[in-house]
Amino acid sequence: MASDRRDRAVRAAVGQALLTEDRPVAALLDVAGVRASATALRAAFAAVTDAPVLHAFAVKASPLVPVLRLLYEAGLGAEVASPGELALARAAGVPADRVVLDSPAKTPAELREALDLGIAVNADNPQELARLDALVRRAPTRSPLGLRVNPQIGGGTIDALSTATATSKFGIALRDEGARARVVRAYLDRPWLTRLHTHSGSQGLPLSLLVTGVREVYELAEEINAAAGRHQVDTLDIGGGLPVNFTSDDQTPTYADYARLLADEVPGLFDGRYGLVTEFGRSLLAKHGTVLARVEYTKTSGSRPIAVTHAGVQVATRTVYDPVSWPLRIAVYDAGGRPKEGGPAVEQDVAGPACFAGDLLAVKRSLPLLEPGDIVAALDTGAYYFAHHYAYNSLTRPGVYGFVAGEDGAVRFATVRPPQTVAEIVAEAGGAHPGALLSG
Ligand SMILES: *Cc1c(COP(=O)(O)O)cnc(C)c1O
Repeated sequence: MASDRRDRAVRAAVGQALLTEDRPVAALLDVAGVRASATALRAAFAAVTDAPVLHAFAVKASPLVPVLRLLYEAGLGAEVASPGELALARAAGVPADRVVLDSPAKTPAELREALDLGIAVNADNPQELARLDALVRRAPTRSPLGLRVNPQIGGGTIDALSTATATSKFGIALRDEGARARVVRAYLDRPWLTRLHTHSGSQGLPLSLLVTGVREVYELAEEINAAAGRHQVDTLDIGGGLPVNFTSDDQTPTYADYARLLADEVPGLFDGRYGLVTEFGRSLLAKHGTVLARVEYTKTSGSRPIAVTHAGVQVATRTVYDPVSWPLRIAVYDAGGRPKEGGPAVEQDVAGPACFAGDLLAVKRSLPLLEPGDIVAALDTGAYYFAHHYAYNSLTRPGVYGFVAGEDGAVRFATVRPPQTVAEIVAEAGGAHPGALLSG
């Protein structure tokens, strides 16, 4: 988010007691920024095609009901990958015809529910297709049905997030011996299979590789339709995966960059013959979230200054376990929530509260020297961070607050998710039956 908006929000969060001694971590979401990203996404595709496009937000990037509702009101749908995510989308009021179910492990009950509701389903593998065969025979369905393929175009810089490698667990590996012919056959045998899906994510993948994956799927659709002698595949689901810039406030690459590149490289995609589905997650939310945490103590160790804060592995799991792949920018504020300036920058560690040595948000980072009571802000944490609490050390989930900054500078907050209480932690940890292991 823009730094001036963020600064105002931090000041207001302190002023309105969202961040206190009792609640030393809080997460802020810039509502105007989220809306702007949704608008930019829709505009980018509207500029290159008249075809219908469903932009299904990947719920896993921010599984919070008010966020899903905000995005739905902004014209988006939902891509879900578990019974929980489907329930969140439904609780947000996203109608069935704006929901897409992907997951490599759908149970028969999940598939049946999706088909009963009329939700689009992308099958992951031949065994799942066989289950769909049985369900489609049992009762007609409104659900658009597709198949996920893996174009095996190679990975990006982050192995754990590269879904289109030779041995990725997702979809049917298109370049494996005989696989392409089997996929074409699967469509010819199933007239109800009308969609083709790929998702070549995620963070760390260059745009050119994303485009290559989409081109592979487009060409496969053309091949299937030629073999079928009709326009059987009528919708292409091109997944998400637009990378996010974690090094500055700039939002690059943009959706417009990606849509233009797709239009140049795969022009047939946008000529109106195919409906489209996208599944962006991180790029819609990441830049609009900030985790705030109070500095509890400062010290030196091996002569390195260390600030012990309340935000660590519980809210920034990826960064803490894989700091090379997921570095986060840190901004610092004083106890009143004003940007902390003055004094030379000092290399210091920003540590979390968890009881293991690696619980560090940043190592040897040049920042104004932190003091107890100061506030650190972990930037660009709107996707896959504060909504993805990791329950290490029974640390409570922080509250998540959406904010809107008025023209007059006043910042209003709305609670997206209240802070978890210690009593809730005890209850979730079997607190209602402490003697459960003693009898019998
Ligand atoms: C995670 C995921 C997405 C979203 O990826 P982003 O990198 O967050 O845009 C989309 N589609 C599928 C199938 C996914 O698994």
